[in-house]
Amino acid sequence: IQSSIASLDRVNSILDHNKEVIEQPGAVHLSEAKGAFEFKNVSFSYGEGPPILKHISFKIKAGDRVGVIGSTGAGKSTLISLLNRFYDPTSGEILIDDTDIRKYKLTDYRNQFAIVLQEPILFSTSIKENIRYGNPIATQNEIIEAARSANAYDFIMNCKDGLDTSVGERGMQLSGGERQRISLARAFIKNAPVLILDEPTSSVDVRTEAQIMEAMQRLMEGRTTFMITHRLDSLDFCNVILHIEDGKLVDYFDNNDAERLKIKKKSLIQLP
Ligand code: ATP
Ligand code: MG
Repeated sequence: IQSSIASLDRVNSILDHNKEVIEQPGAVHLSEAKGAFEFKNVSFSYGEGPPILKHISFKIKAGDRVGVIGSTGAGKSTLISLLNRFYDPTSGEILIDDTDIRKYKLTDYRNQFAIVLQEPILFSTSIKENIRYGNPIATQNEIIEAARSANAYDFIMNCKDGLDTSVGERGMQLSGGERQRISLARAFIKNAPVLILDEPTSSVDVRTEAQIMEAMQRLMEGRTTFMITHRLDSLDFCNVILHIEDGKLVDYFDNNDAERLKIKKKSLIQLP
């Protein structure tokens, strides 16, 4: 009883926690977005803190591959948190396919995104269930297909129990590159129209990195993609570049201009 009471206290403190975003009454259903976005004069502060994003405006077409660059602490991850509505802007608005994202049901809206983070979150269960998390009704064949697309199938087959292999506590029995490929498989199986990649190729060897990059390119096909990266070579996959410094959008350009990209890369190498 004693230990249950302690757990109940923790559960209650989570339930009492103020939600960062609140669904509007009368929010409407969204099945599948096209994936065009617009930021209109968006500013943001965490709570009462200083402004982190300042008057950011830009437009992204459906299917664009957007490279988001900038120094550490510039506000890149914050921008992405606003995009998938982990927070709402302090002022300004964000539109998806010309509609304010706050008009949609929160779960429907967040379902438009597949997210691959630098440190993927895995659960202490089998590889199969970790992939299925992207789509709870996926069949065995769809899981295998997703693992293949993510260049994960071969290493999975080399594991003791194949797809049923346990990943250990939060995936700790797998290497960083293996965890990332499982989270890519999860993104494939989710099949969402918008993809977010927050620096997903750090801390892996060159061969694994090549496999991950190849799987990522496949995943980006036909999806609006936002890729946060410090690796300038990754920018070659992007057709739009957003450069953020100190919470401000300092540069935005279309990547068809190869010369411009070259100059940009050079200037970035000189950044601290
Ligand atoms: P990096 O390249 O290191 O990932 P970033 O561009 O993603 O950096 P953000 O994580 O967006 O930077 O952080 C921007 C600023 O917001 C930083 O000054 C950071 O300290 C602050 N910040 C980030 N998250 C929070 C939070 N939850 N509460 C308060 N301040 C935060
Ligand atoms: Mg970040």
